[in-house]
Amino acid sequence: MTSTSRPLLNRRLAEFGTTIFAEMSALALKTGSINLGQGFPDTDGPEEVREAAVRALRDGRGNQYPPGPGVPELRHAVAAHQERRYGLSYDPDTEVLVTAGATEAIAATLLALLEPGDEVIAFEPYYDSYAACIAMAGGTRVPVTLRPHEGSFRLDLDELRAAVTDRTRLLLINTPHNPTGTVLTREELTAIAELAVERDLLVVTDEVYEHLVFDSAEHLPLATFPGMRERTVTIGSAGKTFSFTGWKVGWVTAPSALVTAVRSAKQFLTYVSSGPFQYAVAEALALPDSYFAAFRADMLAKRDLLAAGLAEAGFEVFRPAGTYFITTDIRPLGERDGFAFCRALPERAGVVAIPNAVFYDHREAGAPFVRFAFCKQTGVLEEAVKRLKSLAG
Ligand SMILES: *Cc1c(COP(=O)(O)O)cnc(C)c1O
Repeated sequence: MTSTSRPLLNRRLAEFGTTIFAEMSALALKTGSINLGQGFPDTDGPEEVREAAVRALRDGRGNQYPPGPGVPELRHAVAAHQERRYGLSYDPDTEVLVTAGATEAIAATLLALLEPGDEVIAFEPYYDSYAACIAMAGGTRVPVTLRPHEGSFRLDLDELRAAVTDRTRLLLINTPHNPTGTVLTREELTAIAELAVERDLLVVTDEVYEHLVFDSAEHLPLATFPGMRERTVTIGSAGKTFSFTGWKVGWVTAPSALVTAVRSAKQFLTYVSSGPFQYAVAEALALPDSYFAAFRADMLAKRDLLAAGLAEAGFEVFRPAGTYFITTDIRPLGERDGFAFCRALPERAGVVAIPNAVFYDHREAGAPFVRFAFCKQTGVLEEAVKRLKSLAG
């Protein structure tokens, strides 16, 4: 038997193939379409933060392996940020871990905490790395589907409670939620916290959009709820908050025993990363509130521009309370299959979007939903809106 007589990609990963983003970005290029598929900003973050990275590089800070847990400046800045914004106190030396973006934080956390066969409950639609990381860790994912209800996607708390079994190891929460834009309310988070305490579950919470909440929505970290700090791994990232998605600087805050466990996996993934950028992100986290307010206001205006345009083009729009994505329902356009719709959209209208079905195990539950990113320059969004109007014709 030769080594190629069985599939090269192992069974754990076989179902994942290549991501939809590669296919759609290639399509965007080929057709000259505006790419509202993948969620990255088309302008860079604050000049002073970029300059801080240049300075670190020139001064020789972080050009060699930084410390395993992250540079002290950034660990202190993360702890100060959690304290200042949420009143959450973490020891920068033992309760903060810097990672290669939130992506590595998610991977290392799941690889560290899961035994084969452990069940992980996560909201469907999922951020695309969750399912793959649960699989790589040998865990079993148990989706709880968010469903449209009065203009937004909501969690059914009874369904969540019913999903917990004796094999459930952890809840993997994401708020503000990609791709639906749902921000969990105080009531929902209270119920999740009560369930976690009652069933003695670990909680991993992906809060990379913590600074992108709109209107009356408020981001409430799960770790602030009663009984939660000691069982919660909170994941943050500089990519979305500061518009430097290429820098891959993320972090974990958790009690020291959990941080130690996550670091055990992380040290064999990247060991360390992004040396000079860590110093720059430390400065970014200390920016005055006015930066965060201006960033949010800018993104809010973009959300409103794209939401209005999509509604005018005939989509049903789920106005997001957070993140930089808008999920739409294509059924008012006489369409039912998001995959077919998104594959045709570049030719039809010169715009690329992502079918939400790729984020579901129950593909049929996600079939009519399509996601658009609005973290793009105003002129780009205006042109996209103009093009999409042809669909209404
Ligand atoms: C973008 C994103 C991530 C990945 O963040 P990085 O810091 O770029 O690794 C993780 N979770 C969600 C929900 C995201 O949208």
